[in-house]
Amino acid sequence: MRTIAIDSQILNTVVSCGRKVKMMFIDNWRPTEKAEALEKGDLMHKMFAHYYRGKRAGLTLNDEDHALLIAGSIAEGRKEYLPMQLSVTTAEEDIRQFKENILYWQRDGWKIIDVEAPFSKLLYERPDTPTKPGLRILYEGIIDLVVTHPSPHGTYIVDHKTGSRRGVPFKLSNQFMGYCWARDMNQVIINKVGFQKSLSASERFQRQFISYEKELIKEWAQQAVYWTHMLAGYIDQNYFPPNFTSCDKYSGCIYQPVCCSIPQVRQFKLDSGYYQGDPWSPHTRDKKEEPVGETEA
Ligand code: SF4
Repeated sequence: MRTIAIDSQILNTVVSCGRKVKMMFIDNWRPTEKAEALEKGDLMHKMFAHYYRGKRAGLTLNDEDHALLIAGSIAEGRKEYLPMQLSVTTAEEDIRQFKENILYWQRDGWKIIDVEAPFSKLLYERPDTPTKPGLRILYEGIIDLVVTHPSPHGTYIVDHKTGSRRGVPFKLSNQFMGYCWARDMNQVIINKVGFQKSLSASERFQRQFISYEKELIKEWAQQAVYWTHMLAGYIDQNYFPPNFTSCDKYSGCIYQPVCCSIPQVRQFKLDSGYYQGDPWSPHTRDKKEEPVGETEA
């Protein structure tokens, strides 16, 4: 039995470009310089994780404990940003935004159920036959938060999104629909942290709600299985077709310098502008880059 594990980022990439799947998830080429927006998002996630674990443990019930928890989360952030490529000024601005966001939402009434909750769930299984090996597809990920929200009352998946642009989240997100499928839930809150200096806190810190009908989640699972079969075919044929209509999407594909070069120099481009990192893991917290609407990290 062959097993393929995917997450929302692999799924997004298989749909958008076979060659990108090969470079990013099979050969593990990462740009030498990580985009600042991603690192700012990583840092914010680390502080949120520390803070919401404390909130789950009851450390926000009085002002003194709350102040200590915020200070502890910021200390955690300062420890985390040292190995990052962020400037001290940028990292400290991230920390300032974190503190302002936490104080803005401190009476949100959230009961924290899970923080950074990993999952690995069987999406599809085809048994071995005498002529053909079977296929097992696992869908994996890590969910920022699961909370009980007071009004409208219910249990929600929460995803933190940082960015510098405003906009409405996109409902048809592999990331959010995959989370709902994995947890058998249908409601998501996007906890937005805007970095725009010209906007007020109420404009930068928004919580946007999305709910999914069961049929949409079922359809999501079917297309995830379809695209994973496509990925298995790419691997079997060792052919990963480029899709030039995806090169300019969002901020532009990070592999453009490679693909814009003739085949004979692509390896040189990879060796000089990228490095081969650890194998991809959907459980690695610091690699969130799915664009959702206008968000950056
Ligand atoms: S630059 Fe275009 S063809 Fe190359 S990996 Fe990126 S999306 Fe694919």
